[in-house]
Amino acid sequence: MELTPDLRDCFTVPGKLALPYTYFAGRIGSRFLLALQEEHRILGVRCAGCATVLVPPRATCDRCQADLADTWVEVGPAGRVENFTVVRYADRHVPEPVPLVLALIRLDGADTPLVHRLGGMDPEAVRVGLRVTAVFAAEPRDTLLCIDHFRPLAPQPSAAGPRPQGG
Ligand SMILES: [Zn+2]
Repeated sequence: MELTPDLRDCFTVPGKLALPYTYFAGRIGSRFLLALQEEHRILGVRCAGCATVLVPPRATCDRCQADLADTWVEVGPAGRVENFTVVRYADRHVPEPVPLVLALIRLDGADTPLVHRLGGMDPEAVRVGLRVTAVFAAEPRDTLLCIDHFRPLAPQPSAAGPRPQGG
């Protein structure tokens, strides 16, 4: 028996949702964002229970559920690529031209990775272990995009430059 859906009764209605909103970033999130925005400093919290440094900071330790109030430490701005993906398709939800590299970056002094975008290099040259550093946005922003992107610490092949020749 063939299962073929009958689409005669199905129709779609085009629409558009625009949903501006604001939310309280919380006590921990607010301090984190203000330090990024006003001082270009990246803060994490160190758990008094298990010594894990969590970035972005949160109010409760993921590992031992300890309260993390007022256990601030500064991390980065450099770090290491723990993992990454290259977005290769253009879509209205992708905020910039593709290819776009999104990476898990573990900042120096942190035990947890931060998700952010990589720039200033050929996406094909990104690798796990690459040393990168934060590039702060020229104008203040209200989100983690106070850090515009991360770039390699050492010179890398440019996205606009010639590709390395295989041999
Ligand atoms: Zn802990």
